Amino acid sequence: MKILVINCGSSSIKYQLFDAKMKQVMAKGIVQKIGQDDSSLRQETGQATLQRELPILSYRDGFELILQSLLDKKHGVMKDLSEITAVGHRAVHGGEKFFQSTIITEEVIQKIEEYAPLAPLHNPVNLMGIREAMRILPDITHVAVFDTAFHQTMPPKAYLYALPYEYYENNKIRRYGFHGTSGKYVSQRAVELMKLPVENLKMVVCHLGSGITVSAVSGGKSVDASSGFTPLPGVMMGTRSGDIDPGLIFYLNRQLGLSPEHIDSMLNREGGLLGVSGVSNDMRQIIDNAERGNKRCRLAMEMFTYQVKKYIGAYAAAMGGLNTLVFTAGIGENSPLIRAMICNKLEFLGIELDEKMNNEALDKEQFISAASSKVKVLVIPTNEELMIALDTLALA
Ligand code: ADP
Repeated sequence: MKILVINCGSSSIKYQLFDAKMKQVMAKGIVQKIGQDDSSLRQETGQATLQRELPILSYRDGFELILQSLLDKKHGVMKDLSEITAVGHRAVHGGEKFFQSTIITEEVIQKIEEYAPLAPLHNPVNLMGIREAMRILPDITHVAVFDTAFHQTMPPKAYLYALPYEYYENNKIRRYGFHGTSGKYVSQRAVELMKLPVENLKMVVCHLGSGITVSAVSGGKSVDASSGFTPLPGVMMGTRSGDIDPGLIFYLNRQLGLSPEHIDSMLNREGGLLGVSGVSNDMRQIIDNAERGNKRCRLAMEMFTYQVKKYIGAYAAAMGGLNTLVFTAGIGENSPLIRAMICNKLEFLGIELDEKMNNEALDKEQFISAASSKVKVLVIPTNEELMIALDTLALA
């Protein structure tokens, strides 16, 4: 019994094969640069790495190659396709319809299609992956796991923008929140590690990767999130600006003559750590350069940690308290320095780090708060693929 997890990007298909009983990854891989001259597949199993450079013209070719590689006599991990019980698909936008993972039917496909304008870079490729996988594996269960689903428990006061109400009613314009599969996995692990009844937990989850969502999770349910209608707002990210004054967009357009496309690119691809530092979108480089005296890199770190700190304070107020603070994703899991800068001077909220434990917590589950800290602070490596596999298994 095996579960295949599929994550289709704009020119790639990432996949992992789980042994459903053991929750173990048997193989993981990526098909890259579909339709380009230098397309390739790389697959890793416990024993071996399979690397193939060959023309992969379409998602259909990509899927066929993935299944061939999983079945490969020398490098594969299965003898027959019938060993796959179900396929879990990452789907980005589930609109207001999907508040949990769901078995894919024709109606579900239509809904994902309907929400494509809300996530034009993601939903259409997610759908392409779903269609191809269902064509090749028609007789098994396919499950869609939506990035937005976890945040569907937000109340209207948190998800509505103060625009004329008909834009919400007619056009579904509201906050959706992203990185929800990560938020769900990490908050469920935190509930297990905290050993407290879930209804007592008032948690802030800081998913700090290339993309960022800080979320407020009360009683195990998301009640607010820093990302919005799109993944752009909230804390500044690798290349995304995060929160700005929306009036700025009109100023950039009317006074500086920048086109909407230029402004879009500036906010999504030229802002964030990259824009402020002028050096990199990668936090490791920012920290290295700041330590060697680069002032703009230092400023980028200070802005970043200040903004995360403000969300923690805001969500503690929104939930009427805080007892659990979780760091996850690339920066959250790996940077004791950034965690320490974020938590600095939050003692008044009951947050105190244990310096040694914080320094030791690299890419592993660990409490990093001092014994005297009222708020328990944890590092929990995220695992979106495992969350997708678990949801898929539950439905299959
Ligand atoms: P995504 O999956 O969204 O691409 P990740 O969760 O892998 O993103 O996070 C990428 C970010 O994590 C990058 O900014 C990278 O610099 C940062 N990161 C990874 N390792 C470290 C580290 N040791 N110290 C600081 N930042 C790190």
